[in-house]
Amino acid sequence: MPVVNPATEQVIAEIARGSAQDVDRAVDAARAAFDAWSATSVGFRAAILERIHQLIIDRTEMLAQAISLEMGAAIGFARAMQVPLAAEHVRVACDVLKGYRFSRVENGTAVVREPIGVCGLITPWNWPLYQITAKVAPALAAGCTVVLKPSELSPLSALLFAQIVYDAGLPPGVFNLVNGSGPDVGEAIAAHPDIDMISITGSNRAGALVAQAAAQTVKRVTQELGGKSANVMLPDADFAKAVPLGVMAAFRNVGQSCSAPTRMVVPRDRLAEIEALAATIANAIVVGDPRSEHTVLGPLANEAQFNRVQTMIDAGIRDGAKLVCGGPGRVPGFDQGFYARPTIFSGVDPLMRIAQEEIFGPVLCIIPYDTVDDAVRIANSTSYGLSAHVQAQDLDAARAVATRIRAGQVHINHPAWDPYAPFGGYKRSGNGREYGVHGLEEYFETKAIIGFG
Ligand code: NAD
Repeated sequence: MPVVNPATEQVIAEIARGSAQDVDRAVDAARAAFDAWSATSVGFRAAILERIHQLIIDRTEMLAQAISLEMGAAIGFARAMQVPLAAEHVRVACDVLKGYRFSRVENGTAVVREPIGVCGLITPWNWPLYQITAKVAPALAAGCTVVLKPSELSPLSALLFAQIVYDAGLPPGVFNLVNGSGPDVGEAIAAHPDIDMISITGSNRAGALVAQAAAQTVKRVTQELGGKSANVMLPDADFAKAVPLGVMAAFRNVGQSCSAPTRMVVPRDRLAEIEALAATIANAIVVGDPRSEHTVLGPLANEAQFNRVQTMIDAGIRDGAKLVCGGPGRVPGFDQGFYARPTIFSGVDPLMRIAQEEIFGPVLCIIPYDTVDDAVRIANSTSYGLSAHVQAQDLDAARAVATRIRAGQVHINHPAWDPYAPFGGYKRSGNGREYGVHGLEEYFETKAIIGFG
């Protein structure tokens, strides 16, 4: 399969297109390795995870270059965010493993956490290495063996990761990678009778197909799917600070983050001021060649994504939302590469298509509200529930709103990233939680030994 650089639209690599037979071979290897790997000590597994972590850090430049080539991330962003945050998942999984209590005895019954078995892991292209380590690291820490299918659109960093795992001395068969498409390799993994659990991060469409394919074999399925996260600005928020931060959070990674706060929910009587603040920051964003150190946003990751974003910008205009900046077409000056214009709509009705559907591009909707109850209703008015933000100077008011929002994470006043905080969706954003102790526990079975004494 060809791998296309979204900045040039040129083929930069070819990968093997795996088949169901390749999945069988990978599962056989993972199954054969499971008994020995699951019986290793915490110290043994932690030492390997520490080596994987160190090798990711040591190879930051190579990994950043690969990510930038395969999905268009600006090189500075790939170096500062895509790679180090991916490494963090490995460090955190190792740290949590070392402190984890695998068994406890209550009333003579031992309750023991044991690795679930062979895990099929399916990942997307938007944060390619980060999504891989968020699954592989806790699975290995738990004592599971894995079959990974990275996105066919971003397989280069995944191959470098496979080399890292090998160089870290992971025993043969514990980690397996099969490249290929969702329908060929992903479905074969989901349906495989000898895989005990699937974890998929991707679109709702793929998540539902995986659950269907997995149903016959009654394996555990955890899904990390889409989002349409609200950023609620309470009336006392410091708008001069919160609006620029909110715009940059929505556009981070060219808006291709499942948790991007793409609906800014603002007091109606402050709308004009907020539009002006948002347009100023959006117009200052440098979109361009991802190889340049000055670039903030590169192109969208692939042609399908570019077309999707264009369709949604057209829908916003057709539905009567006010275009504050950006708009359809490529960024002026680029006739090649999937460069979309950072686009802000205002006066957006919460039921418009652009306010309901995940766009996965640099498109922000500003939605006015009249009362705080309205704001909460709007925040909860999509089928998603992955993430949310609340901005306020009065922390009590912010906390009260945070408890009313139906989402797996709520951030108050743009806090620093917490890699230990559980991450996952309410509603159609999925089920299960990744990161930290919750992420590790996804990969366990629970056994009760009654009469343990
Ligand atoms: P996608 O659903 O197209 O692909 C994700 C993965 O699933 C890929 O590896 C793909 O090959 C595979 N796949 C596709 N169809 C499949 C099938 N029928 N059976 C098995 N596997 C299949 O998603 P994408 O375009 O790569 O990523 C974007 C989506 O991912 C967005 O919706 C985004 O919100 C979501 N996402 C969610 C999270 C989260 O943690 N909740 C994080 C990042 C991205």
